[in-house]
Amino acid sequence: MNVTILGARGSMPAEGPEFTEFGGGTTCVLIETESQAIFIDAGTGIIKAPHIENKEITILLTHPHLDHLLGLPFFEALRKKGNQINLYALERNGKSAKEQVDGLFDVPYWPCKIENYPAKINYHDLKLPMTIGDVKVEGIEAMHPGGSLVYKLTHKGRSIVVATDYEYDEEMSGDLLVFAKDTDLLLMDAQYTEEEYKDRMGFGHSTLKQAMKVFKESGAKSVRFVHHDPFHNDEFLRNLEQPIKSTQIMFAREGEEIVL
Ligand SMILES: [Zn+2]
Ligand SMILES: [Zn+2]
Repeated sequence: MNVTILGARGSMPAEGPEFTEFGGGTTCVLIETESQAIFIDAGTGIIKAPHIENKEITILLTHPHLDHLLGLPFFEALRKKGNQINLYALERNGKSAKEQVDGLFDVPYWPCKIENYPAKINYHDLKLPMTIGDVKVEGIEAMHPGGSLVYKLTHKGRSIVVATDYEYDEEMSGDLLVFAKDTDLLLMDAQYTEEEYKDRMGFGHSTLKQAMKVFKESGAKSVRFVHHDPFHNDEFLRNLEQPIKSTQIMFAREGEEIVL
């Protein structure tokens, strides 16, 4: 599997010269095999997606918060007639996958519906586990307001677990430790510092300390911390990363490619 971090920012996009190293695009991860191009979320990171040719295109939504959908109207693959994109989402608040997307991109909030774009989106209400081509997809529910899915994708004995938008809880997070056990790559929410978390408990995001705990206790082989707070610039993130950085442990940088 080839993994490309297209967007690792959380909550809102960030912009400017102080956001170039870790990037300002919101959540989007591209996972590719020989036949599949699977995007986890369609945050603004998806705008920088590489051109996809001769692969099935799938979008797996963790949840429909704005920062995970905002890039969808600018997804290059949507602009090509004849393209088919499979979009999967769990039913949320009684809304189907299609209703979640239509609710956002419709007049007067957006000039046209996504279905008016040249490509066709096939909507699927998610039922896990499932397979997409040669990729096995599993999920567990995250600790997050309104819910969010933690995905695990497995291909040829290698796996990635994506736990963006996840608030660690000492008593409730045992299932994540089991789910991420021995995975090759864990993408883990580490939006807040310990100091910030005092005012943001219940917002649905973890601290770096909590994220490190999940990494260590799960036995995952490597980790990239994701969902960077929009107010944490490059220097701030570098300072947080410096004491723990290794080839296995890093903050996610937009554009990074990882071969599993
Ligand atoms: Zn988010
Ligand atoms: Zn969220």
